[in-house]
Amino acid sequence: MIHEILPVGPLQCNCSVIGDDASREAIVIDPGDDVADVLAIVQKHSLKVQQIIITHAHIDHVGGAKKLQAATGAAILLNQNVEIDQSVGQADKIRVGSLSADVLHTPGHTEGSVCLYFPLEKKLIAGDTLFAGSIGRTDLPGGSFEKIIQSLHEKVLALPDDTIVIPGHGELTTIGEERESNPFLTKR
Ligand SMILES: [Zn+2]
Repeated sequence: MIHEILPVGPLQCNCSVIGDDASREAIVIDPGDDVADVLAIVQKHSLKVQQIIITHAHIDHVGGAKKLQAATGAAILLNQNVEIDQSVGQADKIRVGSLSADVLHTPGHTEGSVCLYFPLEKKLIAGDTLFAGSIGRTDLPGGSFEKIIQSLHEKVLALPDDTIVIPGHGELTTIGEERESNPFLTKR
């Protein structure tokens, strides 16, 4: 698996470029901005972007999607009824070459927030649902503290402790680390 993470835009959203070594097919998750930098990574690895996946429709995550689509022809996938090619939700699978990710619908930060879990690689692209030592804010329109806590306990903490978490912003972490020490998860 090719996986490069680059923080994009003024809010430094973690954009992931994930490619299949054999087929060179790729997905880009949360291309919020800096599309030229994203395309440079795509070209460096000779990848073909098949899908652009948005964890949730906030501008710092979705801002560069149309531009990236224009450059690559990839489909845009998102859990919401905006101008996209395909809606994704709980139990959907994202496939790119031999790679496969499960879509986890994790409402709370927004109603349509999703995480992507790659079971073979034990990697979670968490969007703004989970951060190292924190969780997504729920004070924006459509946010719900009760729902994000429920999503985290029922779906995210159901994953193995050694799962690597790539949050929407900031440092990487693991499920075990957050289960152990994240103040929003240790007390119910
Ligand atoms: Zn957000």
